[in-house]
Amino acid sequence: MKVIVTGGAGFIGSNFVFYMLKKHPDYEIICLDSLTYAGNLSTLKDVMDNPNFKFVKLDIRDREGVYKLFEEEKPDVVVNFAAESHVDRSIENPEIFLETNIIGTSVLMDACRKYGIKRFHQVSTDEVYGDLPLDRPDLFFHEDTPLHTSSPYSSSKASADLLVGAYGRTFNLPVTISRCSNNYGPYQFPEKLIPLMIQRALNNEKLPVYGDGKNVRDWLYVEDHCKAIDLILENGRPGEVYNIGGHNEMANIDIVKLICDYLDKPYSLIEHVTDRKGHDRRYAIDPEKIHNELGWLPETMFKDGIKKTIQWYLDNKDWWENIISGDYQNYYDEMYGKK
Ligand code: NAD
Repeated sequence: MKVIVTGGAGFIGSNFVFYMLKKHPDYEIICLDSLTYAGNLSTLKDVMDNPNFKFVKLDIRDREGVYKLFEEEKPDVVVNFAAESHVDRSIENPEIFLETNIIGTSVLMDACRKYGIKRFHQVSTDEVYGDLPLDRPDLFFHEDTPLHTSSPYSSSKASADLLVGAYGRTFNLPVTISRCSNNYGPYQFPEKLIPLMIQRALNNEKLPVYGDGKNVRDWLYVEDHCKAIDLILENGRPGEVYNIGGHNEMANIDIVKLICDYLDKPYSLIEHVTDRKGHDRRYAIDPEKIHNELGWLPETMFKDGIKKTIQWYLDNKDWWENIISGDYQNYYDEMYGKK
């Protein structure tokens, strides 16, 4: 089985590459990534010499390059993680989100149609459903909850989801979509809540929390997410959407306090800042479908996952310090020479 993993130099994609190489030693994994600011090739250094792994620097919007790769490699499966993924950046500059998240996805699916494929899997987000009120803890997102987006990021992901569904129906492309909640774990770019707070707390810097900090997210340990995608590839039904959630809702402010507690830092570091525009209040996923159909359940308790994650950032200071200094962006040139 040959699997193309797009966005494999990013947070979830790299964890998925590690998971798949370990779980399926007979699979070939090709990581396709254009190495934007969020892609970090040094994350993949431990698998670079694995004979079952190959890295290709390529933009999913580059139709010619993508077709050439598919013609040469003849992949069986494509898992699309590549995306612009940060909501705040989408508010600053929506255009690149539309180009990568929508056009890029269509280029990949056109390549799948042209060269034949067993499965195209789109990694999507619970943010496509919009948000839920804080005072209705009985409400959850289901796969048939209407799409109702708030940010340019979530709108671009919802648009891609609609396109994926359309390619499935119109062209009979064997597609699946998963919509997951907020992931946490190793190798997450330190602009996202958990790694940002860990890194700033370690440096005794202020911990900026949007608004009242009561916005609720459902946190999913990244390895549990990878397991779910692998199960969908193996036994998921083409044309279906699967929600993946951690059964673990927490307010942002409580996460930040927990990080302070683990790192023995005072809450006085916390600073409430002007709220994000259009900030969603609560996301909560009902993962019953993937549980009933594929037997998946989140295995990592948040108290264990967050401990492991904090310890990973403590043990891998070089990784995130290289990001903050910008040095990580030279890694590709060091490995392959300047282009
Ligand atoms: P990330 O930002 O850490 O990584 C994205 C990767 O995609 C980077 O390596 C980047 O270089 C690559 N990329 C971006 N544009 C590209 C392009 N045009 N061509 C090729 N590669 C490109 O993102 P992440 O947090 O790992 O998220 C992965 C996927 O999961 C995304 O599709 C995101 O929408 C989805 N998702 C993430 C979360 C989360 O909590 N992180 C939650 C729900 C869904």
